[in-house]
Amino acid sequence: MTWVITKLCIDCKDIECVEVCPVDCIYDLTTSDDKYPNQLYIHPDECIDCAACEPACPWEAIYQDEAVPEIFQEDTQINAQVFEDHQPDEFTTKPTPLRQQPSKDEVEENKKKWGFT
Ligand code: SF4
Ligand code: SF4
Repeated sequence: MTWVITKLCIDCKDIECVEVCPVDCIYDLTTSDDKYPNQLYIHPDECIDCAACEPACPWEAIYQDEAVPEIFQEDTQINAQVFEDHQPDEFTTKPTPLRQQPSKDEVEENKKKWGFT
């Protein structure tokens, strides 16, 4: 069992999840690759299924793999594939935060932007 970061993280990256993960398995890709959006990724083989990250995410972007909403189904594969396509030294577990805590309206607007209502 692993957890998955969905598109709701794209361009948000406030790194709240990184700060609570006990095994440092949430990564930012430091290499530019158009195939992978500007978000963080959970390494499926390193995640210990502790669930600490999900409530910490103010953008409500993280789901257990079995509960990923239909509209974000491909994100499970994307979270795994990025670690196959890139070497360990192309990731960091200490990304620079992009945004501050969102308001409730901003969270809802972000969901609508990705068609998740
Ligand atoms: S807390 Fe959520 S939005 Fe913020 S970086 Fe983690 S997954 Fe992305
Ligand atoms: S479920 Fe736990 S181990 Fe897995 S990414 Fe979230 S905080 Fe890290």
